[in-house]
Amino acid sequence: MSRLEAEWVTQSPQETQALAAKLATRLQSGDVLTLEGDLGTGKTTFSQGLAQGLGILEPIDSPTFTLIKEYHDGRLPLYHMDAYRLEEEAEELGWDEYFEGDGVCLVEWASRIQSWLPQARIAIQIERLDENSRRIHITVPSGYEERLLKGL
Ligand code: ADP
Ligand code: MG
Repeated sequence: MSRLEAEWVTQSPQETQALAAKLATRLQSGDVLTLEGDLGTGKTTFSQGLAQGLGILEPIDSPTFTLIKEYHDGRLPLYHMDAYRLEEEAEELGWDEYFEGDGVCLVEWASRIQSWLPQARIAIQIERLDENSRRIHITVPSGYEERLLKGL
């Protein structure tokens, strides 16, 4: 496979979590994922599946009020970030240490910290189709497609 993007339609929250969990087993330290989608589409649901797939047992919730939540009980550290409350041009809050660190970064509202994001990122977009259906679109950097998308 040489495609840098792929798309799924899931029919339940469990299906979305299963896809995220499967993706999680392929992640390496230093991977940065961005998660975009309107309120209530399934960003937290996806994040929960990703955490499960990393073997994280601690419950995942939305980090909106904390900016960054760290989970250290899985195969890799997970840094769950949510830039929702930041101003358009976000200040330096030590983002690089997370992005260049030993774990996986999962960033919600990544557009608000655009200038701090690394070039190579795994972009996930979730779109609501109807009550239980979601379109999940994943774009990966060149060179990552075999590891992340092949057979997913
Ligand atoms: P967000 O974090 O984007 O605001 P949440 O994950 O908190 O969204 O909420 C998504 C809601 O949509 C949940 O109530 C979930 O049960 C529901 N849902 C229904 N179908 C799906 C699906 N296919 N994938 C993900 N969530 C779904
Ligand atoms: Mg959420």
